[in-house]
Amino acid sequence: MPTKTFSDGEMVMGRWPGSHLFYEVQVTGYNKSTQLYAVKYKDGTELDLKESDVKPLNYFKTKKGSSSRQRSRSRSRSRSPARTQTPKRSSSRGRETKKPVQKEEVQKKNLPPVKFVHQLQENSTNSKTTSVIDDKEEKEENNSKNTYRVVEHKIRREIVTDQLGLPYNLRAKKEEGKVVELETKDDHLYIKKQAAWTQEWEFGGRVGAFFIMILLPAAVILLLLTCAQEDASFLNFPPQIPALQTLWSSTALGIFVLWFLFQALLYLLPIGKIVDGLPLANGKKLKYRINAFYAFLLCGAAVAAALYNEVNLSYIHINLLQLAISAMAFSLVLSIYLYVRSWRVPADELAVGGNSGSFVYDFFIGRELNPRIRNFDLKYFCELRPGLLGWVVINLGLLFAEMESQGRDAPSLAMVLVNSFQLLYVMDALWNEEAILTTMDIVHDGLGYMLIFGDLVWVPFTYSLQAFYLVNHTSELSWPVALAIIALNTVGYIIFRGANSQKNAFRRNPHDPKLAHLKTIPTATGKSLIVSGWWGFVRHPNYLGDLIMALAWSLPCGFNHIIPYFYVIYFACLLIHREARDEYQCRKKYGVAWNKYCQQVRYRIFPYIY
Ligand code: NDP
Repeated sequence: MPTKTFSDGEMVMGRWPGSHLFYEVQVTGYNKSTQLYAVKYKDGTELDLKESDVKPLNYFKTKKGSSSRQRSRSRSRSRSPARTQTPKRSSSRGRETKKPVQKEEVQKKNLPPVKFVHQLQENSTNSKTTSVIDDKEEKEENNSKNTYRVVEHKIRREIVTDQLGLPYNLRAKKEEGKVVELETKDDHLYIKKQAAWTQEWEFGGRVGAFFIMILLPAAVILLLLTCAQEDASFLNFPPQIPALQTLWSSTALGIFVLWFLFQALLYLLPIGKIVDGLPLANGKKLKYRINAFYAFLLCGAAVAAALYNEVNLSYIHINLLQLAISAMAFSLVLSIYLYVRSWRVPADELAVGGNSGSFVYDFFIGRELNPRIRNFDLKYFCELRPGLLGWVVINLGLLFAEMESQGRDAPSLAMVLVNSFQLLYVMDALWNEEAILTTMDIVHDGLGYMLIFGDLVWVPFTYSLQAFYLVNHTSELSWPVALAIIALNTVGYIIFRGANSQKNAFRRNPHDPKLAHLKTIPTATGKSLIVSGWWGFVRHPNYLGDLIMALAWSLPCGFNHIIPYFYVIYFACLLIHREARDEYQCRKKYGVAWNKYCQQVRYRIFPYIY
């Protein structure tokens, strides 16, 4: 039985779960049966760590090294998430003084070169921490005195199963997933399999996922049928259902597929800058081309050319249901493809949330985090292009349909407002394309039926309900009312854009002088939380702004029916649920610091209400 190496009260370096960062911590106890050390971080977080995650204070001590080692140090620093927060910044602003000592700080104190030693358990069947090492200059030593292989190396990247979102528990548990198998070859270690099983079920688990998958298409069809009725009331249930054979149109399917391929072509155009995504759990960063706004302009030109050639966009209104059903069929096929291909990708490329082992659940949530065909990133593409641009074109088609069906020379003011507000929203998303790289969808969720259906069907065909409603239901707005609605939308937009840009800029460069006025709370992960500005107003100011805009999009339709308000009601439910999911993840990530943030910023979305 291993003996206790560190004594109670001793200051040591403790690994932060799910990262390769070590902080100064105090040993507060030792459990003989579990062989775990209880440690306390400087920010107050208390955790149980296994012995290999606890190092003596002088562990990262300097050593006269070769030039290769010097290179090693600079490389490992540049990859360290701790770079986002230097002690200078924290102290200069007089914020939290209790800040965990980070690996870099230790390095700085002990300049010159660092010998960074990383330990791997020889028999790693219990180990949840694995490393991929790919530098041939590395030297490997076998220490025969104990059961460890000590590897002196440049840390290329580190894969920690906890980084994939598993709750941090340092004891190996059978149900936490498959054993990690390591294979050594020369100085390299390769991962053959990695544990990454879903620990938490969302959306009601497999039963919930099953019913959501059935209900979503039914809901879209029901909404479109209800909205098309003269008395567009949900009380008129069920709405008139057309003959089944009329619901399917191969022309509509052809148009949808062509639209998808056209967008894919625009996506592949070699224009626009290339940026890095956030670091993945395996240490890699994917490259993304930023050209969605060019795609928008080219689409605009294509639609203008179609109108010039007298293409009748009212086709969209007449065949909206058929187009939606085609999109559903396409989404189903694409989701099946994604599920099948996910079995061929390495385990460290899976999304932890969609890797439960249940077919229904994983198919719904999505197994693979970033499915790519060569450089074509399917999730990044679907999130912004075919659905959002499709929504704009559908709205435009409905605008022409309104003029046609109501015999107008110009669209109604209500229709102009709805079209303009939603066009602004889409243009904003495309203009700020890079910001999507830090959203939950890209960072956390796999690509499965949920996102595919959401992107290709739900967004274009239900977000356009207000415009669809206005085709057959007149709503005459006075200018004062219209101006009040425009003001509401502007307020919503300012909050939404201000909050998203502030957080995005801060996450990209926390040392940006433009953000120097912001107060922050440091967290033990090295990232800070903004606690003033928009993010000090409520905990999700971007959701608040989005919801205000959603209301402004519905108001032009008047108050005769609830269906134009479907979007704002559904969206409130979605964002409240999303906020809860995010809150849970953030509490897990940031622990005590998150609690401090919640104490200082008490309301989640709506000030003084929720
Ligand atoms: P957010 O952009 O709000 O991202 C949440 C993340 O922000 C957290 O996980 C955390 O990640 C970081 N964060 C939270 N609080 C702070 C803070 N105080 N300081 C710094 N960072 C913080 O989440 P979403 O991806 O859900 O939303 C993005 C946008 O998309 C929103 O405007 C939303 O309204 C919109 N949206 C629109 C939808 C639609 O259908 N129209 C659907 C869903 C979203 P970390 O600390 O790891 O950086």
